[in-house]
Amino acid sequence: MSILPLPSDPPPLFKDLLVEPEEARSILRPQKDERYGFGFALSPYRGCGHGCRYCYVREYPNALHGPGDWGGWVAPKLNAPELLWSQRHRLHAQRVFMASATDPYQPLERQYRLSRRCLEVLLLCPTTEVIVHTRSPLVLQDLDLLRAFGDRLSVGLSIPTDDDTVRQTVEPRAPAIPSRWAAAERLATAGIQVSIGVAPLMAVHDVQAFARRARSSGASSAWVGGLRLLKQDPFCKVLADHGWLKVLDPDYVKGIRQAFREVFPVRRRTPERPENAVAPPPPPIHQPGLFDRVG
Ligand code: SF4
Repeated sequence: MSILPLPSDPPPLFKDLLVEPEEARSILRPQKDERYGFGFALSPYRGCGHGCRYCYVREYPNALHGPGDWGGWVAPKLNAPELLWSQRHRLHAQRVFMASATDPYQPLERQYRLSRRCLEVLLLCPTTEVIVHTRSPLVLQDLDLLRAFGDRLSVGLSIPTDDDTVRQTVEPRAPAIPSRWAAAERLATAGIQVSIGVAPLMAVHDVQAFARRARSSGASSAWVGGLRLLKQDPFCKVLADHGWLKVLDPDYVKGIRQAFREVFPVRRRTPERPENAVAPPPPPIHQPGLFDRVG
């Protein structure tokens, strides 16, 4: 187990972020719907410093919190690794998705290292598979740890657009698109299975070049997921103001999906389970909520 000290005060880098460390009562959220392709979701934080403007989590009842709006507050679950260790008996032959409703490599992870310490626990569970899903190249700070999982772990990098000016509008606090491509390349070069998540799909500048870029990153698969919004969602106005309402058009999504199918023609196989696993092979990985996969 890591013995990295936890910060006693919110670090100055995050002075505009309300940081409210907490002791969580539970850490593994069961996912009973097999279509999702994982048995448990694990979120070391509540809230998300990336604060994407379309994020479906912001609609959750507890998303508005104190003086901060969505993206303006984060609650690190200080006891997440210890809680996970105490629950490790539940993880035999299970697949864990990390994380839902937050980004495990949001900026606070640089100081708190809760995702890392949870991964250290998961590494000690030899029949457990892990999907790490993030928008951030900060995941590279744990490259050696990720490699130690071998084919028990894959990393999904969310890249919803090829155009960083679009990203600056829809995900202004999240890392720039070129840095995500660079992260995908480094992970793939290190032998880690990478999937590109074009989700939720935003406006794309050059569809064919986008798909080729995903392929050349070394990713072994990609998936495209359309954005779904309620009509009264304020993000509709953002889309309308920028002329991007097309992202809600199913035909637009289909076109992007087809372009990715052409460069990722072979559907990814799920990794082999460890020999001592007793459960039957898991269903193909399916991302949660809004997304449909290709490749
Ligand atoms: S990174 Fe994910 S969880 Fe965080 S705000 Fe963006 S969409 Fe929501």
